[in-house]
Amino acid sequence: MILENSLLAALPRRECLQLLAACEPVTLTFGEILYEPGETIRHVLFPGNALVSLLTLADGHLALEVGLIGRDGVVGIPLMLGQTVSAVRALVQGTGSAWRIGSARFLKETRRSLPLRRELYRYTHALMAQISQTAACNRFHVVEQRLARWLLMTHDRVKSDRFHLTHEFLGHMLGVRRVGVTRAAHALQERRLISYSRGDIVVLDRAGLEAVACACYQVVRDMHDGERTAPALHETPVTVAA
Ligand SMILES: [Zn+2]
Repeated sequence: MILENSLLAALPRRECLQLLAACEPVTLTFGEILYEPGETIRHVLFPGNALVSLLTLADGHLALEVGLIGRDGVVGIPLMLGQTVSAVRALVQGTGSAWRIGSARFLKETRRSLPLRRELYRYTHALMAQISQTAACNRFHVVEQRLARWLLMTHDRVKSDRFHLTHEFLGHMLGVRRVGVTRAAHALQERRLISYSRGDIVVLDRAGLEAVACACYQVVRDMHDGERTAPALHETPVTVAA
């Protein structure tokens, strides 16, 4: 299969293949919890077309999405920083492929490979920027703008005009109750930017969604793109046996 994860794809070919030899391909399933706050991180995952949300919990039951990880990144960054326990819930938001590696082996590979460390540091900063921008976004921007932003972020990662997001999950994304989700989704639908039925979302007008979304979307995307200063050292995509 063609390597879908852009962090892995940015590694020099030899480094990438060496890391993949220590990984196994897995399918992550919608609703699967990879780890809870306070739990030990046993695996690190490089999503392909799977989507993983990071949720912060409040009062033990209220959940708010603070980060979204897809083909652009890696799940398990705390290990890089010397922490073996997660502070957030990592929940699979979109079924799809990923590469999985055990924590001990991951740390061994990061000690061995400078290009891997460089990519992980770069992504750690991008994820921190995404999380901090999200904190400001939740405080200052209205639900419709924020919904447009999350839909664009999802669209970027799944690379498909169609995806599934449940009402409950949209509530977590936006930190609002069901009625707030319904109102915002209807508003976007009335403007013919999306169609939305029972969680099945179709992006009809990408440019229109960008016009509605708050500036947070562009801020995080620009930072993400701008940070990849080191050019990929191989020209062709790495292909590995499925
Ligand atoms: Zn915003």
